[in-house]
Amino acid sequence: MSEDCLFCKIVDGDVPADIVYESDSALAFRDISPQAPTHVLVIPRKHISTINDLDEFDRQLVGDLFMAAKQIAAQEGIDESGYRAVMNCNKGAGQSVFHIHLHVLGGRGLSWPPG
Ligand code: 5GP
Ligand code: ZN
Repeated sequence: MSEDCLFCKIVDGDVPADIVYESDSALAFRDISPQAPTHVLVIPRKHISTINDLDEFDRQLVGDLFMAAKQIAAQEGIDESGYRAVMNCNKGAGQSVFHIHLHVLGGRGLSWPPG
């Protein structure tokens, strides 16, 4: 738990969120400002600020985030049509909340490369 971390507060239930998936290690909820018909954020319960802060012990945890994304995509009915699972690292890549989160976006066509 990091004192001033918004997503830690969501993990602790201190900030409300529309939760769509929960496991021992991860949590997923709808983005407050959705950029696609489905826009879910998958986060570890453990506070990790950026991808750069991952260590060897986090291998399983990162796998858990992708397994959650797969399940959420099926739940949301976007698994066959297609979706993006992406994590921004640091400000230059658009990271604004410094508790790692996998964006799961789908329900519309997504262009590549992203801006
Ligand atoms: P980033 O820019 O760090 O990759 O993504 C952070 C995401 O968190 C943004 O898409 C933003 O809309 C979302 N977000 C910011 N504050 C809140 C909040 O209080 N609740 C929820 N559900 N999403 C939030
Ligand atoms: Zn946190």
